[in-house]
Amino acid sequence: KNGELRCYLETSAGCYIIRDKEMEVSAIYEHAVIAAQECKGQYMHHEALYTEQMGKEMQREQQIINEMDTALEEKQFVVYFQPKYELDGYTPRGAEALVRWKKPDGTMVSPGEFIPVFEKNGFIIKLDYYVWDQVCQLIATALRAGRKPDPISVNVSRVNLYNPNFLESLVNLVEKYRIPPEYLHLELTESVFSDTENVILNAVNYLHKAGFTILMDDFGSGYSSFNFLKDVCADVIKIDRVFLKKSSHEERGEQILRSIISLSHDIGMDVITEGVENVDQLSMLAKMNCDWFQGYYFSKPITVGDFEEK
Ligand code: C2E
Ligand code: CA
Ligand code: CA
Repeated sequence: KNGELRCYLETSAGCYIIRDKEMEVSAIYEHAVIAAQECKGQYMHHEALYTEQMGKEMQREQQIINEMDTALEEKQFVVYFQPKYELDGYTPRGAEALVRWKKPDGTMVSPGEFIPVFEKNGFIIKLDYYVWDQVCQLIATALRAGRKPDPISVNVSRVNLYNPNFLESLVNLVEKYRIPPEYLHLELTESVFSDTENVILNAVNYLHKAGFTILMDDFGSGYSSFNFLKDVCADVIKIDRVFLKKSSHEERGEQILRSIISLSHDIGMDVITEGVENVDQLSMLAKMNCDWFQGYYFSKPITVGDFEEK
């Protein structure tokens, strides 16, 4: 206004208490920087004191970063499948692909540990592509063998929506394996839908035109916006398992669940609920006409071999 430029400055300070007087200045500085980074993006939190925990966390992240390229080359990332069941007869129909990191020493690392790191440094773009490739191979093999496989859904990280090659690489992938795109379902997490609207709308429209089915993942877990139900024409709504958690307002929670399912049906969306762990939850959801179920009650994520036997 009037040539005046206003900037909002945010400061963050990291403190490190020097206990070893012989310590190199650069090392002292690095410890303070680690503490300062804790404040990033945290409103009104401008200074932090270095703790052992921060150092360990940083080391753990750094180790993941050091190992990730080799892990991808050596195929240490393994795709598991969690079957989805339909209301009609509770029969298995398709699955969700979920990645795990199998370290050379045999330990399995769950995605909750490495995906947030890969989303920060962009490596998730390579990993997601790798998972989609594996899934396309599986579908192609089934089709070539004359079988008609059920669709498999893959997760698409929000980072991919800002990757200029995302749409093209996905379309090229299904063309490479010559599989009809309806065999590949895409799970976009709900937080994506609360980002810059146009980016999402354009991507979803493009993917629809290209023949993919879109699932709005984790609905209700965070910043769910009913507005986006209106604007973004996803095909399936995937209700987050927080809705199945016990609460002190059981009836209220059930009523909300029932209403979301019926609202989704009214606007032409199918509904899947994840995290179904027991028969009570299943019968409640079945009464509410939920179309699909996924959860430990039916099956945990399993290896490709076990999945193909189902
Ligand atoms: P998500 O997409 O919400 O996946 C569902 C998670 O819930 C999976 O955890 C699954 O094992 C777990 N789960 C399934 N049924 C039950 C149940 O009955 N009870 C409970 N307590 N949990 C259940 P997982 O495999 O550890 O994956 C965690 C998250 O990591 C996923 O959440 C997804 O956001 C992300 N992720 C996994 N694989 C990929 C991938 O290839 N790409 C991307 N971008 N993200 C992935
Ligand atoms: Ca998912
Ligand atoms: Ca989910």
